[in-house]
Amino acid sequence: MATELKIGQEAIEKKGWWQAYKWLVLRRTSQIGILLLFMLIPICKWISPEADCQLGWIMKGNLSSSKFFDTIPMTDPLLFLQMIAAGFTSIAVEAVIGALIILVFYLLVGGRVFCSWVCPVNIVTDAAFWLRTRLKLVGGTRFSRNIRYWLLGMVLIVSAVTGSLAYELINPVSMLHRGLFFGMGFGWLVIAAVFVFDLIITKRGWCTHICPVGAFYSLLGKVSPLRVRADARELCDDCGECYIVCPEAQIIKPVLKGKEKGIAPVILAGECTNCGRCIDVCAEDVFHFGNRYSVSPKPAPIAAKILNSKLSKNSLEQKS
Ligand code: SF4
Ligand code: SF4
Repeated sequence: MATELKIGQEAIEKKGWWQAYKWLVLRRTSQIGILLLFMLIPICKWISPEADCQLGWIMKGNLSSSKFFDTIPMTDPLLFLQMIAAGFTSIAVEAVIGALIILVFYLLVGGRVFCSWVCPVNIVTDAAFWLRTRLKLVGGTRFSRNIRYWLLGMVLIVSAVTGSLAYELINPVSMLHRGLFFGMGFGWLVIAAVFVFDLIITKRGWCTHICPVGAFYSLLGKVSPLRVRADARELCDDCGECYIVCPEAQIIKPVLKGKEKGIAPVILAGECTNCGRCIDVCAEDVFHFGNRYSVSPKPAPIAAKILNSKLSKNSLEQKS
């Protein structure tokens, strides 16, 4: 197994820095870019209080409910479900359309794309994982990753019983996003608790064991066509780096080692966040983005190069 402090080193040597960090860089750009879009108005007003800040209307609202160019509504489908469970009788048509738009989007690209490409808490939990790795912290409390699904059920039950959107008061995702605009208050304590929980108590604790939002998006992600594929899995040299960087490492092995059992080389688990880190760190280029339906896809270019060099080496050895 690779030592944790050298993750991606072999990929950099074989594929170059950009190919070894591409998806991570694009993801961070997306997360920060989306935050900035929401912040354009406050930034514009801060720079010039008298300006009309028209540009700022690109994205208005927050991650729970927003409008694109003051026209296209977007509503968090989980928030919408909580409204239904709570028995809200007058849900605006805009909210229904917004929930449908977001629902269709994540059904297509993968539910947990929200986690790795949009959610600001992911930056916090990734930072905790990075520090945990640097400090070589191991162990911690082990508990089932299915708890998140029970908590998701609880969120809806509590909404139904209280007739309110109770979870939204303590949801770290909404809290962090709102807090960045209006001030965090005691929200910092909640975010700090998530960070410490991930750092000390359980590796990747919040996102992969607890968060009901992530659980909801995992359910959506089960049917999406966009998938990470491992078509070149025969090139895997068991370095183990993909297992280390993957927030849901349990979903990789069945696909990577499932050839004899007839398991297709595609990650179909809804828990996959489509973060692309497995693609980045794999020096053998085993993984790539594709779709769930491909029957005979070509190996990715770098993998093909490695495969060809291995084949020609074998044929030379046979001749000699
Ligand atoms: S699991 Fe929850 S907190 Fe983590 S990235 Fe997904 S939505 Fe955000
Ligand atoms: S399988 Fe790959 S893309 Fe999916 S969560 Fe793990 S590292 Fe990210």
